[in-house]
Amino acid sequence: MYKVLYEGKSKVICEGPDKDSLVIRFKDSATAFNGEKKEEIPGKGRLNAAISNLIYSYLAKNGIETHVIEVIDDISLVVKKTEIVMVEIIVRNVAAGGFSKKYGIEEGSPLKNTTVEFSVKSDELGDPMINESQITAIGLATADELQEMTRQALKINKLLIDLFVKAGIRLIDFKLEFGRRNGRLILCDEISPDSCRLWEAGTDKKLDKDRFRRDLGNLAESYQYVLRRLQNV
Ligand code: 5GP
Repeated sequence: MYKVLYEGKSKVICEGPDKDSLVIRFKDSATAFNGEKKEEIPGKGRLNAAISNLIYSYLAKNGIETHVIEVIDDISLVVKKTEIVMVEIIVRNVAAGGFSKKYGIEEGSPLKNTTVEFSVKSDELGDPMINESQITAIGLATADELQEMTRQALKINKLLIDLFVKAGIRLIDFKLEFGRRNGRLILCDEISPDSCRLWEAGTDKKLDKDRFRRDLGNLAESYQYVLRRLQNV
C-alpha cells in the first residue's frame, strides 16, 4: 500500500513508486456545493477511474500529454508528479449550470462560440471565477501559460466532442486542470462525469454529476451507461 499524502473530496493522493510519481486512488464519495452535500455512492470511484482512463488514453493517442503513467487497478493509477496550476479551465459548448445562472441564459441554449473561462482552484474561496489579467497579476499563471492552456483546452474540446458524438452523448461543458513539469504544461486530474456535463443525444437526459447535485437519482447507473457507450465507440 502506498503512503497517503493527501485525501481530497473524490480522490486520495499517495506517494508513488518513485520520487517523480504519485498514486491517485478514486473514491466512491460524491460531493457538491464545495463539500456541503456529500454521499457515498458504491462503484462511483471505479466508474470514474475507468471513464477517465479511457478518455486520457484517447487524448494521449491524439497528441495531448497527460499525467497518466500506468493504471494499477480498477481505482488506482500512477501519475507524473507536477506542480499543479492553481487555475481551473472551464470550457462550455452549451449554456448550463453556473453559466446559465450567472447570465440568465436558459439551460441548453446553444452558444454562438465555445467559451473558455478560468476559476481559482481553492475550496476555501469556493473556486471564484477570475480573468486573465487578474491571474497574471497575482501570479497564479503567466500569460504564456494561459495561452497554452487555452490552446490545449480547445483542442481537447474538439477531440472530446468527436469521441462523445460517436457514443451518442452531447458534451455540454467540462473542467480541466494542468500541471507544470519540465517546462511544459500537462493535463492532470481527471475527465469524468464528475467534471463534465454530459447529456444523452436525442433525449438530453443528464448523465453526469448534476444527477447528484440536483437529486435526480441513478448516478452510478448513468456513469455506467457513459462507460458502456464509450467502450462501444
Ligand atoms: P459550472 O461552472 O457550470 O458549475 O461548471 C462547469 C463545468 O465544470 C461542469 O461540467 C462542472 O462539473 C465542472 N466543474 C466546475 N468546477 C468544478 C470542480 O471544482 N470540480 C469538478 N469535478 N468539476 C468542476
